[in-house]
Amino acid sequence: MAPTNALFDASFTGGHETHQKAQPEIDKHVERMGKLQYLLYADGNQSLLVVLQALDAAGKDGVIRHLFTGMNPQGTSVFGFKQPSREEAARDFLWRAHMRTPGKGDVVVFNRSHYEDVLVVRVHKLVPHSVWSKRYDLINDFEKMLSLNNTTILKFFLHISKEEQLSRFEQRLDDPSRHWKISESDYSERELWPQYVDAYEDALASTSTKHAPWYIIPANHKWFRNLAVSQIIADTMSEMGLKLPRTRVDIKDVRRKYHMARREEKAGGKHRAKEPTEG
Ligand code: AMP
Ligand code: MG
Repeated sequence: MAPTNALFDASFTGGHETHQKAQPEIDKHVERMGKLQYLLYADGNQSLLVVLQALDAAGKDGVIRHLFTGMNPQGTSVFGFKQPSREEAARDFLWRAHMRTPGKGDVVVFNRSHYEDVLVVRVHKLVPHSVWSKRYDLINDFEKMLSLNNTTILKFFLHISKEEQLSRFEQRLDDPSRHWKISESDYSERELWPQYVDAYEDALASTSTKHAPWYIIPANHKWFRNLAVSQIIADTMSEMGLKLPRTRVDIKDVRRKYHMARREEKAGGKHRAKEPTEG
């Protein structure tokens, strides 16, 4: 499970050679995601929760920007987990996550998540060991409950190398339009890389379950990251058994009752101003 283990090469690209060759495949998966989200919404019995976790600059924002474009904003939302507000900090750590879980028919993306409470919280010793160490079981129970309520859960850890992170920070320095993203804490957090690795290893090993699996995504190449994530989401959604709801009316009857008169009228050659049509 170790994110830094050689088994998990952050630069892995599988059999795929170049971004150019992979892009049509990414486009295809993104299109599938959009179509399946339409079905999920229409079906209205299930939901999808996508959890994105990573160290800084690994591409959580990029995944959202590139892959969720095909989904209808009606039925899709993204929630970013920051430092807890006073209201949030006054409650149990799952409270704010639970409030944002998807309703039936919806897709929700967590940009960071309840996992921060066993990651940054552990690394910075914001609560004692006796508190955070009990959270893995609580998380597993929470996710189990969501899955019993027809929520499919996919969790992605975007894995970049320490060198790649530094080079992405440098690219930000060179691009004034992204200067707002730079913070001193990005650099101070880098110093804690080994502690984050330990925390991620434990989190992933303790909470990867059948109903809420973790996927470790090699993310040094943005295009491979996008390919892997989009394929996993589209494949998973296509296995959810989504279907259009049963038609509640007799289509022939509705056509005859409400549409024939107008047709006949038109065919009768009456001159009327053309009514605007809506797509
Ligand atoms: P960003 O994702 O760059 O906007 O940063 C959000 C910041 O909020 C990150 O530094 C997170 O580590 C931090 N954060 C998120 N959840 C928590 C939490 N439960 N406790 C403390 N810090 C958190
Ligand atoms: Mg940040």
